[in-house]
Amino acid sequence: MNQTIGHWIGGAEVAGKSGRTSPVFDPALGVVTKDVALADTAEINAAIAAAAKAFPEWRDYSQARKQGILFKFRELLNERKGELAEIITAEHGKVLSDALGEITRGQEVVEFACGMPHLLKGFYTENASTGVDVYSTRQALGVVGIISPFNFPAMVPMWFFPIAIATGNTVVLKPSEKDPTAALWLAKLWKEAGLPDGVFNVLQGDKLAVDGLLEHPDVQAISFVGSTPIAKYVYEQGAKHGKRVQALGGAKNHMLVLPDADLDLVADSAINAGFGSAGERCMAISVVVAVEPVADPLIEKIVERMNKLTVGDGRRNCDMGPLVTREHRDKVASYIEIANQDGAKVVVDGRGINVDGDANGFWLGPTLIDNVLTSSKVYTEEIFGPVLSIVRVKSYDEGVELINNGAFGNGTAIFTNDGGAARRFQNEIQVGMIGINVPIPVPVAYYSFGGWKNSAFGDTKAHGVEGVHFYTRGKAITSRWLDPSHGGINLGFPQN
Ligand code: NAD
Repeated sequence: MNQTIGHWIGGAEVAGKSGRTSPVFDPALGVVTKDVALADTAEINAAIAAAAKAFPEWRDYSQARKQGILFKFRELLNERKGELAEIITAEHGKVLSDALGEITRGQEVVEFACGMPHLLKGFYTENASTGVDVYSTRQALGVVGIISPFNFPAMVPMWFFPIAIATGNTVVLKPSEKDPTAALWLAKLWKEAGLPDGVFNVLQGDKLAVDGLLEHPDVQAISFVGSTPIAKYVYEQGAKHGKRVQALGGAKNHMLVLPDADLDLVADSAINAGFGSAGERCMAISVVVAVEPVADPLIEKIVERMNKLTVGDGRRNCDMGPLVTREHRDKVASYIEIANQDGAKVVVDGRGINVDGDANGFWLGPTLIDNVLTSSKVYTEEIFGPVLSIVRVKSYDEGVELINNGAFGNGTAIFTNDGGAARRFQNEIQVGMIGINVPIPVPVAYYSFGGWKNSAFGDTKAHGVEGVHFYTRGKAITSRWLDPSHGGINLGFPQN
């Protein structure tokens, strides 16, 4: 009998009572190792009620006390992140070093949130009118919901909850049902760091739990990350129910390579950004846009490197792990067949690759497809796996037009040694996050993360100052204190 992963409500682990569960796989072994409880309405209400109950006290904790807890959480996370990395690898499949990498990026947001008192300072204008002062403050919203995807079970929740908590909100996190244990581990860490019960809750579940958060009147705001159709749904439903929503969606990221680029750097970057985490990253490079005559020599260098990549169990010393489920692996592999049918050239086919792992794992090796037509589904759809496409263009302008015509706008990169071209690119390109000779331009924690077009709905991005803005609302106060020396009734001591 497998262990069933439960919820974390009001400061304690709570077993699921709905009778509904979902299997959790070890993708490198290809077997179900656990089940996760899926919340019913009573459990959804219980998690929101715990967060609502904890809110007034947590909101009124002094900045100093809040900061102390944030610092402690950061120290514990830093000490023990190896444990969390093992949990991530066992449920997601990414290699251990990459799991540690995602935790480190999440930890940066915790570190940013430790400085929250500085970011919450308001403005003060003395004598805006004679004897009248005007000042501003930002206050917490209340209960906020965070709904996260499978591909970053620690980092994506950490884009949001350190800031939500540091600004005085209470949280209900609904992690992906594919890798639900990381969230529980983080909840226990918060408790150890001294966070009052009910400030951070974990609700395991599926669409029912998401809808519950979207519709409940006590939930003030929703931060969502996932595929574009669900992001759009969450944005619309949340707005309909009067909530503040930021909903980050899918991606199809291009890398534009100009003929003057350093092709060794480009090839290394294409490999890292195309196949890291088996391509299951929203900032993965999916399409290399090669400005001719760059394509042939670049493909040669990429293939040389692909031949050296090792694929296997993420607990071993491999470059790339399995995909998250068999169903997802099969879907990703189906694009290789589509490429063949659409007349593209499959240069390296990742199906049937030799792996350092169990034969039942959800394997698909790095795949390279040349001459992909922009009308093909291989180009138009998000694949979310280790499949890198090459599209050949004749000029910089053609490349920019192609990228700007894309439906998504999460990240993009240009590789060139021409500063003028790079500067034009950053100005002209219709994408939210840009890399210049950097393939995965994920902004650091004190900047904000988010794309354009179908990659993000709502105008406020994750973390950085925009994250602080999202989790607080502003007040402007106009005040006049009469000077007691101004005549009138005065029952105090005599004045000059
Ligand atoms: P997903 O959309 O399937 O799931 C995301 C969340 O929504 C999960 O918690 C899931 O339980 C919930 N969900 C699933 N179906 C739902 C439904 N019908 N109604 C309501 N909620 C539902 O995404 P995923 O497969 O877990 O993650 C991969 C996707 O996330 C990719 O598209 C990737 O690009 C995207 N992503 C985007 C970013 C970003 O910053 N833009 C970051 C990470 C991942």
